[in-house]
This record gives sequence, structure tokens and C-alpha cells, in this order.
Amino acid sequence: MGLRTTAVCRLCRREREKLYLKGDRCYTDKCSVMRHPYPPGEHGQGRQKVSEYGLQLREKQKARRIYGVMERQFRRYFKEADRRKGVTGENLLQLLESRLDNVVYRLGFGRSRMEARQLVNHGHFAVNGRKVDIPSYLTRPGDVIAVREGSRKKPLFKQIAEARRDQGTVDWLEVDFEKMEGRVIRVPQRDEIEVPLSEHLIVELYSR
Ligand code: SF4
Repeated sequence: MGLRTTAVCRLCRREREKLYLKGDRCYTDKCSVMRHPYPPGEHGQGRQKVSEYGLQLREKQKARRIYGVMERQFRRYFKEADRRKGVTGENLLQLLESRLDNVVYRLGFGRSRMEARQLVNHGHFAVNGRKVDIPSYLTRPGDVIAVREGSRKKPLFKQIAEARRDQGTVDWLEVDFEKMEGRVIRVPQRDEIEVPLSEHLIVELYSR
């Protein structure tokens, strides 16, 4: 199971930052962080002194919330990132970005990662011609991610194809809305991963 789907705006307010969890609404003045820029709850508006550990912890929680990953799985990603060659923080973000639900979102087939996860869960996507309904499936360079034949006629995908026809995607992916498919060209570099995260704080947290 992914992260809870109710009251997601509270998660942004807890971090005092827009995490873009709701798709289109996040870009309007209905965004809760814009209207209530303080954590929810009785003490939300009080002054808060945050320790170094607190900062590291919050950054990890923020990453989990952005990508919709549970604690245990997140720790597994960190272990794998640490095991790989290179910079652990960057490895961690690369792993998170390669999740199928994130790739579907980055391609533009979902308005938020949460919606993308639901669409994957419901079996609307295939990777290299085979149905994959596991949001945490890790894609690789060369993988072709497509809306499955039977799902292409669904109004949602028709709307998406219509609305996004002239839009591209991030540099490390390519998308064709006519064919309703996309491809992973390569692993993204850190500066190509647009997330408001200081991953070194997460590395420091797990290195304690
Ligand atoms: Fe976060 Fe989006 Fe809700 Fe704003 S509208 S608080 S960015 S989920």
C-alpha cells in the first residue's frame, strides 16, 4: 500500500512547503499551503525550534511524502543507494525517480504521483509490452512504458492525450501522446530531478 490518500494537503502544511501532491489544484490559489502557511493542529502557529536531527528527519519525511513511499521501503532504497557506486544522495533520488508511478507522472499520464500510482495499480500500463501493476517497479533506460490497448479508449487517457499533445516531458524521458507511450532514455542527473529536497540531510540521518 502507498501513502494514505486523505488530507494530503496536511502533509504539505506539515512541511510548510508545497509538495505538489494533488496535481492541478497545487497550481491554483486553492492550495492549502498558500492559504495556511503553517503546520496543522493546535500548535501549528507556535514558534518551533528545530534541532539538526529534526531537520534531517523532516527532510526524509518530505522525500517519503513526495514519492509516496512507506518507511520500510524508503530504508531499502537508501540501503541500495548506499551500496551503489557514486553519490549516495543522488543514487537515492535516481532510484525514487525510476519507480514506475513516478515515470508515469513525469511522462504526463498522471496529474500527480498519487494519481499515477492509482492508474498503475489499476493495470492501465505495460512495460515493454507486459502489464505491470506494481507502482514501485523500477524502470531502466530503454524501457517503453505504454498505456495498455484496452485502456486507451478511456475518457481519462483521451483527455490527457488531448491536453498534453504539444507538451514534452523531462529530458531523460521521451513521450508520444499519439501512441500513448513513453521511453526511459537514461538515468537522470541530479540537476534534472526537480524536487525540493536536500538529500544530504537524509544521508546524514541514516548515517547516524
Ligand atoms: Fe500541497 Fe498541492 Fe495541497 Fe498545495 S494543493 S497543499 S501543493 S497537495
